[in-house]
Amino acid sequence: MSAHEQMRAMLDQLMGTSRNGETDKHGVKFYDDSVCKSFLLQCCPHEILSSTRMDLGECPKIHDLALRADYELASKTKDYYYDIDATEHLEAFIQDCDRRTTAAKQRLAETQEELSAEVTEKANSVHELAEQIGQKLARAEALGEEGMVEESVKLMGEIDELRKRKAVAEQEYRNSMPASSYQQQKLRVCEVCSAYLGIHDNDRRLADHFGGKLHLGFITIREKLAELKKTVEKRREDRGAERERSSGGRRHYVGGRELDRRARRHREVPRERKDERERTDRERGERERDRGRDREREREKKRSRSRSKTRRESREKSRGRDRDARRSRSYRSTSRERRRE
Ligand SMILES: [Zn+2]
Ligand SMILES: [Zn+2]
Repeated sequence: MSAHEQMRAMLDQLMGTSRNGETDKHGVKFYDDSVCKSFLLQCCPHEILSSTRMDLGECPKIHDLALRADYELASKTKDYYYDIDATEHLEAFIQDCDRRTTAAKQRLAETQEELSAEVTEKANSVHELAEQIGQKLARAEALGEEGMVEESVKLMGEIDELRKRKAVAEQEYRNSMPASSYQQQKLRVCEVCSAYLGIHDNDRRLADHFGGKLHLGFITIREKLAELKKTVEKRREDRGAERERSSGGRRHYVGGRELDRRARRHREVPRERKDERERTDRERGERERDRGRDREREREKKRSRSRSKTRRESREKSRGRDRDARRSRSYRSTSRERRRE
């Protein structure tokens, strides 16, 4: 990033899109569908894992620091429930990753020489100790860089202890098989980031793995997901209740559970009348819409008589548009108007 770009990013982060007046970069608002909600909450895997070996490329949705700033400001006075979107996004991502881990393990099981249960156990204790050493070493180095020398030295002491235990474990593992077998690298899959780890990897390599951006990025994502999952059910209920409230009780299925039977009986009669009224309203609306759509279809037919091959396609597209338009009519039209200003 050039100095100029850096400055721009910093200003975006501080001031949001209002800094550029109406001409914001993507011409969208943070609540548009095209904006990545995980990015707004600083947990999009595309961002966290960028420039690692598992770089996912650019996120299909918009990432923009100015929009994040807008959201952070707006979320102080309104709840947008984006944690629910982020939970779903991260959950799908982690499931995908865990599937990859399972597949990698499967591949190893098929290609690596099979060890007896006893030897496997010995190999695992080497792996576990190596992992602890790698993690602590990475941590000790990070602490050292932060100037926390005392903590770092303490960790190094623990690492020495683990190294001794690992040497013993390695000896036992070595003694349990012929030398030629021992020479072969035995691989294992990292449960966190699904990378391969070797039983003969040295401490340096392990520390690079456990302190590396890829592994740490996965830890960040997994911890974030675990945190989000703690509250997501409750949040879904809250969001449902709020939508119910904001629709002004027009929908009469008030979450079922909250409505006790007596209250329901009380509402029976007026509700039926209201139902009736609403149904006719709805039917009238639908009839009008159908008529409109028929007219539109007629027009479409005339327009595309000459290109009859694509007619069916375009009709389907226009129907899809209708559907979309109905789903988010009010919200889309307002955002379109705003853009036109
Ligand atoms: Zn994203
Ligand atoms: Zn890992």
